[in-house]
Amino acid sequence: MVWVLSGIIKVLREIFGSDVLSREDIVEYYAYDAQPIKGEIPLAIVFPRKAEQIRSYLVYASKHKIPTYIRGGGTALSGGPIPLVENAVVVSMYRMNRILDIKLKDMQVRTEPGITIDELNIYLGRYGLLFPIDPGSSAAATIGGAIANNAGGVKAVKYGCMKDGWILSLEVVLPNGEIIETGTNTFKAAAGYNLTGLFIGSEGTLGVITKATLKVVAKPKYRVAVRAYFGDEREAAEFVVKLLRMGLDPTAIEFLDRDTLEAVKRYSGLDYKGNAMILVEFTSSIREDVERRLNLLVEILKEEGAIDITWSKTDEEYQKIWMARKAAAPSLGNLKPKYLILDPTVPISKIPELVDICRKIANKYGLIIATFGHAGDGNLHPNVLYDPLDEEEFERALKAAKEISLETIKLGGTVSGEHGVGLEKIETFKKEAGREKLDLMWKIKRLFDPNGILNPGKLFPREYWEEIWGDRLSI
Ligand SMILES: Cc1cc2nc3c(=O)[nH]c(=O)nc-3n(C[C@H](O)[C@H](O)[C@H](O)COP(=O)(O)OP(=O)(O)OC[C@H]3O[C@@H](n4cnc5c(N)ncnc54)[C@H](O)[C@@H]3O)c2cc1C
Repeated sequence: MVWVLSGIIKVLREIFGSDVLSREDIVEYYAYDAQPIKGEIPLAIVFPRKAEQIRSYLVYASKHKIPTYIRGGGTALSGGPIPLVENAVVVSMYRMNRILDIKLKDMQVRTEPGITIDELNIYLGRYGLLFPIDPGSSAAATIGGAIANNAGGVKAVKYGCMKDGWILSLEVVLPNGEIIETGTNTFKAAAGYNLTGLFIGSEGTLGVITKATLKVVAKPKYRVAVRAYFGDEREAAEFVVKLLRMGLDPTAIEFLDRDTLEAVKRYSGLDYKGNAMILVEFTSSIREDVERRLNLLVEILKEEGAIDITWSKTDEEYQKIWMARKAAAPSLGNLKPKYLILDPTVPISKIPELVDICRKIANKYGLIIATFGHAGDGNLHPNVLYDPLDEEEFERALKAAKEISLETIKLGGTVSGEHGVGLEKIETFKKEAGREKLDLMWKIKRLFDPNGILNPGKLFPREYWEEIWGDRLSI
């Protein structure tokens, strides 16, 4: 066995030179992403600089059946990039982070996958442009990882997620070593299958994304953030449903429940009123346009019984209003040491029911479930809080989390609006998708990756992976 493993390292060094970390060098870091479950410590991590190196590696890995995990920023909240088979190789895209081309008149930019979303937007800002998909993790999340997870974020009400027209084309290295280009350089394309779409949300199971052509927009010059409290969580959620029908074209509509507000208060001294907060943002390149929509919103908020309505007049005030939302996840540690974060997403009209369900399940299991998130696109983040030293409480937290996902399916929703299935949602996704859909997806997977070397153990239930990996799987 030792011979075999050192043989693999030797080949990796031939392909990647000194850009290889082998077991002695490896910290446990690569066994984790941003959620608490630990995967296997990999045999090696490689840091490719060009697609041709990935091609050589994948041909070798397919031939010798080496479990391979692609990693961007490692910010996934579903276990997506963590190894689940012993002696795996992690392909870190971190060093492929160049901007390759910008076509200003075509409103397009071509990048490598390892650039972070913030780095890209700093660059685009010089040209008055913006790539508007904005996950809360944008400082560390990479373009490749965000595409592979179909990421969204706070601006998804206006701009949608990665799948919604922002990715025009991808260069992808397939497990057989073929390098393909999936799309076109046009905003519209009706000829043939949507191959680009197949890779968006593929969670590192079909191929390695090595280049992406992205659509960009003019960065709006004006913005205003509006904050209002409601006496009742359900009332706040019902307001979101009404607001969407009013044609005010909000960029963001965020919701924070009572427990989240309490956590933020303990963290930052936020002086909140009532039991729920709504945060709305408007953006435009025309100042009067923002002002008109703001005035209408304030009128409607008053009519609907909102309290302590305020909005930003300066950039400092804008940051202050957003602080409560941005601090939501980091401040949960003030209530309990750990939490399971979920991302159930329902048809908009069901948001009030989802809020009620989270509260009921919290009461049923005697837990704190702090819920906040992108209510304007039907996507909430219930955070099930627990103490890792209290095993019994952790068990209850797992049960509560599963129940929220199952109730979401009953509401006609999905267990994941933006974080992906990864490892963490395999069981509930199986319930949501059903056998036929999963079988079809597995056929697609095997078409691209017949040896099943990419991301074994993820997205599909164990019984699918067992065909290939048997008891080598650690799940
Ligand atoms: C504080 C915080 C806030 C967050 N907020 C949001 C949010 O608002 N919206 C949201 O959608 N998500 C959010 N997330 C989740 C996470 O940041 C996103 O899923 C992000 O897109 C992952 O990008 P990454 O580069 O870190 O990918 P990784 O975590 O490294 O990988 C994610 C998946 O992509 C695959 N992958 C990575 N690179 C490639 C590639 N080049 N080719 C093929 N497959 C690849 C991996 O194998 C894995 O399956 C948040 C996470 C944190 C920690």
